[in-house]
Amino acid sequence: MLYPAMTAPALLEAPAPTRLWTPRRVLVTRSAAERPHGQRVLARLEAAGVSDVELLPGDRLPSLRGDDDRAAFMAAKDTMALVVPPPSKRRLQPIPPSADFRLDLAEGCPAHCQYCYLAGSLSGPPITRVWADLDEVLDGLDSYVGQGRITSGTLERGGEGTTFEASCYTDPLALEHLTGGLARMVAHFGTHEWPGPVQLRATTKFDDVAGLLGLPHGGRTRLRFSLNAASVGRRFEGATSRVDARIAALGAVARAGYPVGLTIAPIMPVEGWREEYGALLDAVAAVLPAGTDLTVECITHRFTPGSKETLLDWYPRTKLEMDESRRTPKRGRFGSVKHVYPKETMAELRTWFEAALADRLPQARFLYWT
Ligand code: SF4
Repeated sequence: MLYPAMTAPALLEAPAPTRLWTPRRVLVTRSAAERPHGQRVLARLEAAGVSDVELLPGDRLPSLRGDDDRAAFMAAKDTMALVVPPPSKRRLQPIPPSADFRLDLAEGCPAHCQYCYLAGSLSGPPITRVWADLDEVLDGLDSYVGQGRITSGTLERGGEGTTFEASCYTDPLALEHLTGGLARMVAHFGTHEWPGPVQLRATTKFDDVAGLLGLPHGGRTRLRFSLNAASVGRRFEGATSRVDARIAALGAVARAGYPVGLTIAPIMPVEGWREEYGALLDAVAAVLPAGTDLTVECITHRFTPGSKETLLDWYPRTKLEMDESRRTPKRGRFGSVKHVYPKETMAELRTWFEAALADRLPQARFLYWT
């Protein structure tokens, strides 16, 4: 499929974003303030009216203490740091089967999902660290093209080329109005002369897509929206954009010619789940233009002992079901354990989703169920 350099203005309408984060405090290290991307972020922070921006004399972040753990958690969640990551973070890590490589714009997320998949995987206070060395990272990507298990054929998937995932440790659209980093990546992937086929991938629970619609994306970025049953979104996905707003944003980027995707996650067998997930798939089908390049990833809810402990610490009054006696342990290679739904529940969910997707979104490419 050929993509125009710019998409026709008539197709570029996006509803106003329903959720924009304003950090209470921003910490900027000296090295970050010197980088071109750091300076662009500083200009955006000023334009967004973020007032508490602290330029640090060096590259160490101060410790973020509150009166108690809860206060420290809330303070950290409301803090953004603009930093240059250590060089060790700049060797891209392989992450099959989701993508060939992780390509991080940031680490941390300002939203409050009570099942957050970052719980237990990031250490330290949950501040959102935005990386200021984006230009250097983009300049160094050519050497990864043709590498990785998916692109080398072990896990070949639909001729996507070498895939780079931008949302492993953050939600890029949650930060886009403050950083512009995702737009810069999309334009780079769309216009750079690559030594082979590539694809940038990002997934989001936000709807701030207006700045992406007119970009010369070249069909090389797949924007996926993390969607769920309406009641799961309402109860457990605090400070994200509403599910219906995400679906509207999905429609807008699909009309702008982006390949798109659904990340249906975390799937939960809540009361009336067939009706709720059926309504979700119907709403998605209603906004997608004919011929949309659509993928679907389905991830059922699971937790580990570590993530449960962290989440109960963060959200002590959560009603999220994390009851080991109602789950089946799934053991990993290094003795790790995940608590997943029992086999019968998994089979029931999977059978229903496969049939519902084939019926409601027949053009979708189903990538995986887990
Ligand atoms: Fe965690 Fe994603 Fe929710 Fe952010 S949007 S809190 S990263 S699950």
